[in-house]
Amino acid sequence: MCDNLLDIKDLYVEYVSVKSLGDVKQTVHAVNGVNLSVKRGEILALAGESGCGKSTLARAVLRLEDKKSGEILFNSKDIYKLSKSELKNYRKSVQMIFQNPYSSLNPKMKIIDTLKEPLDINTNLSEIEKYNVISDTVKKVGLDIDILNKYPHEFSGGQRQRIAIARALVLNPEFIIADEPVSALDVSIQAQIINLLRTLKKDFNFTFILITHDMSVIRYLADRVAIMYLGEIVECGAAAQIFASPKHPYTKALLSAVPKLSEKSSDRVLLSGDLPSPTDLPSGCKFHTRCPHCMDVCKSCSPSEKEIFEGHFVKCFLYLNR
Ligand code: SF4
Repeated sequence: MCDNLLDIKDLYVEYVSVKSLGDVKQTVHAVNGVNLSVKRGEILALAGESGCGKSTLARAVLRLEDKKSGEILFNSKDIYKLSKSELKNYRKSVQMIFQNPYSSLNPKMKIIDTLKEPLDINTNLSEIEKYNVISDTVKKVGLDIDILNKYPHEFSGGQRQRIAIARALVLNPEFIIADEPVSALDVSIQAQIINLLRTLKKDFNFTFILITHDMSVIRYLADRVAIMYLGEIVECGAAAQIFASPKHPYTKALLSAVPKLSEKSSDRVLLSGDLPSPTDLPSGCKFHTRCPHCMDVCKSCSPSEKEIFEGHFVKCFLYLNR
């Protein structure tokens, strides 16, 4: 069996957005030549600013977005070439936890029906077996089975996110993608949900992509980190190594934005300007318009990826000739 559960190869995803004023159509270059693997059993964090393409990449892995080109292999099979029955099994194996637990649960459905729906669609379990799976999962996410006859509005944000996590787990998936799973919650609840995800990961042994812009969440949970900027992975490696010795100027800026008690303001790397629009990508290195180390070559040529230590890749001219 291959070590990698997921292999993304040279993936491009584009879509057309229509500006209301004058119905101008623009192509959004959301994912631009991503190569990324996820090993079985690991937590890979995908980090970057809002609008950098993290969620579009996740949606492509879930087959909710069409690709322009490239491949996504799951268990060595191209997910865009699956038969109808293979696609059904794939959707069972890959589940998503969404950012906002207020909008991800159907307000008109009792919790028991929300949790039973995936089992009704994807399994041949008897009603008793389904109930046993549901009650077992509800307990594992730290809730009481009394919740099953209630509606979403009767719960707090943290409880709703636990229910959403339970819904993702009832099918015992091999792979989970969590898109900013704590950013809509109160700070006091965030730590509980992060700890819960860590415990569940051990109990259910799933492989996990965690999408977040919060570097402190990544430091606590992730085995590896991929840093994304304007639809490209600019640095990827073991979380411990990236936190100890970030290489790409963008990674350094992201990490320096995490507040530290001992920090002097001179330690901060401040980026100028906003993230450029993915409808109008800069030439050369896509980070050159904001990079404090930009050289002439960066404005016209795009750096290729280089492995600077085992398993630690970076896309930057500062490291190409070392
Ligand atoms: Fe900065 Fe040039 Fe490296 Fe891009 S390639 S990150 S512009 S130094």
